[in-house]
Amino acid sequence: MPRGNILGVGSQHTCEERAPASGIILGMSPNQTGVPPRTVPGMRDLLPDETPTWGRLERIARVVSIQRGYARVVTPILEPTELFARGVGEATDIVEKEMYTFTDKGDRSVTLRPEATASVVRAYFQGGLNQGPQPARLWYEGPMFRYDRPQAGRYRQFFQYGIEAIGSDSPWLDVEVIEVAADWLAKCGVTGTRLQLNSIGDGNCRPAYREALRDHFRPHLAEMCDDDKRRFDTNPLRLLDCKKTSCTPFQVDAPSPIDYLCEPCREHHAVVEAGLKGLGIEYDANPRLVRGLDYYTRTAFEFWHVDLEGAQNALGGGGRYDGLAETLGFAATPAVGFAMGADRVVLALQRQGAAAPPPRLAVYVIPTVSDAALPAARLARDLRAEGWSVVLDAGDRSLKARMRQAQKMGADAVVIIGEEELKSGRVVIRDMAAAGQREVASEDLAREVDRILDSSAPAEGGEA
Ligand code: AMP
Repeated sequence: MPRGNILGVGSQHTCEERAPASGIILGMSPNQTGVPPRTVPGMRDLLPDETPTWGRLERIARVVSIQRGYARVVTPILEPTELFARGVGEATDIVEKEMYTFTDKGDRSVTLRPEATASVVRAYFQGGLNQGPQPARLWYEGPMFRYDRPQAGRYRQFFQYGIEAIGSDSPWLDVEVIEVAADWLAKCGVTGTRLQLNSIGDGNCRPAYREALRDHFRPHLAEMCDDDKRRFDTNPLRLLDCKKTSCTPFQVDAPSPIDYLCEPCREHHAVVEAGLKGLGIEYDANPRLVRGLDYYTRTAFEFWHVDLEGAQNALGGGGRYDGLAETLGFAATPAVGFAMGADRVVLALQRQGAAAPPPRLAVYVIPTVSDAALPAARLARDLRAEGWSVVLDAGDRSLKARMRQAQKMGADAVVIIGEEELKSGRVVIRDMAAAGQREVASEDLAREVDRILDSSAPAEGGEA
């Protein structure tokens, strides 16, 4: 029996329960028995040829965050459904169609997080960070889950790096947050991005803008898609961000929110624009860019990539959400943040030919007789203590097969210890790039490895 009811994947079964005697997986239909399991549609493994690039993105996320005083938070992947229903908003595609929601054994409705902002705001209050220095500068990274239509750049499990600055309404914080995102993208090496910037006002000025939008779209409503017909009543700002060809023509001359900003929102936006210009961060003023929920206020931004296709061209985005804390039932607290999608950044880097190389393997150690296994293990340990990456291959394949393996793994040097070497206390070391080898005393080995690494092509070591 399937456990729980995962919305949208109701026809799938869990494979948790195994009958020990027969080995049959309970909950699978008979014709599925024996078929090796694969990933759930829209979810994927990140394999070693890709993980160095992911590792680099994570390291840069950590560095650019810490450099600006952002501290890391890790929130649960599973949260009460209500957090997102309230925090992301009932009238969004995410909550309406895309959440992985199920009932746990305690009869609670829980959801795999589709985004992290609501969780971070919850953690800020639940963990007492609202009592500490303000604003709290926080960053996170990790997997998010949305039951969306899978395609290149769109997955059901994807990864975000994000920051949230909670507890200040200063426009300089908007500038800071945008600058962090821009710096992360630049340090990751992504080229061809354009920052899109807009201001969507606040509770004061947005009602008039909303009405102006309704006036604009009303005559075209009959020709627009069903989603937009609904949005016309519930959330007219989102009429600006529908991607359907039936609707986009009517967006072209829609009123711009900038023209409806009240004085405080206009001043806020002016500081953000001046700050970005002063820091040399280029942007396109984009009056169609919206974050279509009431608690989003003022600044909205996205980073678009010029080459990624259609709806997948947004590498990330964010904005000010001064109303979110209150919507969740906490004290009103201004905040601003972003979420960048790592999957799309990796995709962009791969297409640029800028994926990270695998970690450098310095030495491959091969004992050729069983008595040499322990001395080889000690030698490998000593070389690692020098800071090098070392693989010990004490298997019983032929020397030739193991040399081939060392080559495939990109080792700079191979160290061979056999019967002769055991007696003499010397080892053979082979420089793989120069294809030459020599015998050295064990105590001189580290120096020889150093020499080989220095002389071989400058292979920038990647990270896992
Ligand atoms: P959002 O939270 O919708 O503003 O998304 C922020 C960023 O997360 C997007 O710009 C994407 O880079 C990434 N993202 C969102 N949804 C997906 C998805 N289904 N697959 C891959 N990346 C995603």
